[in-house]
Amino acid sequence: MITIKEKKKCCGCTACATICPHQVITMKADKSGFLYPIVNKNKCINCGLCENVCPILHENEERIPTYSFAIRNNDEEVRLESSSGGLFPIIAEKTIEAGGIVYGATFDKQWNVKHIGITKMEDLHLLQGSKYVQSNTLGIFKDIKQKLQEGINVLFTGTPCQVAGLNHYLQKQYKNLTTIDFICHGVPSPKIWKDYLSEIKDIYNLPITNIEFRNKATGWKNYQFVITFADSAEDGEKTQKYICHHSDNLYMRLFLDNYILRPSCHSCIFRKGKGGSSYTLGDYWGIHNFNAEFDDNRGTSLFLGYDDPSIIPQCISQHCTVIGTPVELALTSNPSYTRDWPQSRYSHVFYFLHNYFPLKLISCFSICLKINKIATKLKCLSALKSIQKGT
Ligand SMILES: Cc1cc2nc3c(=O)[nH]c(=O)nc-3n(C[C@H](O)[C@H](O)[C@H](O)COP(=O)(O)OP(=O)(O)OC[C@H]3O[C@@H](n4cnc5c(N)ncnc54)[C@H](O)[C@@H]3O)c2cc1C
Repeated sequence: MITIKEKKKCCGCTACATICPHQVITMKADKSGFLYPIVNKNKCINCGLCENVCPILHENEERIPTYSFAIRNNDEEVRLESSSGGLFPIIAEKTIEAGGIVYGATFDKQWNVKHIGITKMEDLHLLQGSKYVQSNTLGIFKDIKQKLQEGINVLFTGTPCQVAGLNHYLQKQYKNLTTIDFICHGVPSPKIWKDYLSEIKDIYNLPITNIEFRNKATGWKNYQFVITFADSAEDGEKTQKYICHHSDNLYMRLFLDNYILRPSCHSCIFRKGKGGSSYTLGDYWGIHNFNAEFDDNRGTSLFLGYDDPSIIPQCISQHCTVIGTPVELALTSNPSYTRDWPQSRYSHVFYFLHNYFPLKLISCFSICLKINKIATKLKCLSALKSIQKGT
């Protein structure tokens, strides 16, 4: 029987709940909105299947990529819609064209993030772009198994832990399955995401029509966080947008400064290729160090593979601009491939305060904290100087 003694020992992949033949495991959200399995002990017959498929209990081997490519989709419009170089849509398109199904993360009607499967090209935009919230995969692994058994080609994209969860759930290799994970900083809390959105909705009081975590209007590196609201017919105004540089946005700061990541992300056992995916995607942040001309600041994808580079999907060379780069450079310019990000030491303070105050008030508080820290540092410096001067 699966028992979660420490939160950091569960990545919420849902493999255990999906495999249970007696449906006695339910995935329940904790205070931060992260899903954890809860076993109905009265009904559990201790068959051990859930433990068999848990990717945390069966750690994969480390893999060093055999090749690394810097890639840009030649279709500028598609590249603009994607987070990095627009590589995912190329591989997805190929799968759909060949009659397959593509699974990835999308928003539901309430702007929660969940996995879905798509078979139509016109739905591809639903999966494009990074959504910086942990995606719910409940029910997806079962669906995938069925499709694989029917002989349908499947492309699954997700975090390394989701790919590992799927592979363990399947318990065998399928020739018609391709898995793509991405280099992952960590996944933020669905509950804080909901709270953040509800505060923003209160300010605008208009329905949301689109959310972009990585809008590239001011460049790939200077990406913006953008929320679009519907037209307000009453006062005759056009579409309204909330636009903010990612480093000034409260939610993005909480994510990137490691306040709200899932506990397991701080000691992730799926880095270094251990998710077991066919390929790994990422942002090729250090590409300018290798080839400055290639970097047009509109997005470059990093493509890592673990087999023979001559068998990379043909569609990539047909529709993209590709250059080979040293694996070492690729990995050093993207540290999340190998290293964890420690939880912010103020994370607990943040969650405690959030029990009583809205996020916007806490953000004022955190600015005060920062000012206080700077002031303390300045005081220490001047004290040090006066000691040195002997005053
Ligand atoms: C939470 C998170 C953390 C990331 N951290 C890093 C990092 O540290 N370094 C780095 O180089 N890249 C990171 N990425 C990946 C990067 O942002 C791009 O998604 C990736 O490079 C693919 O870009 P693309 O242009 O090829 O495709 P895009 O069109 O941007 O495709 C996005 C793909 O990501 C999937 N996806 C989007 N959101 C989620 C989600 N919440 N959960 C699961 N799958 C999702 C979609 O299904 C789709 O397949 C992260 C992505 C996420 C979602």
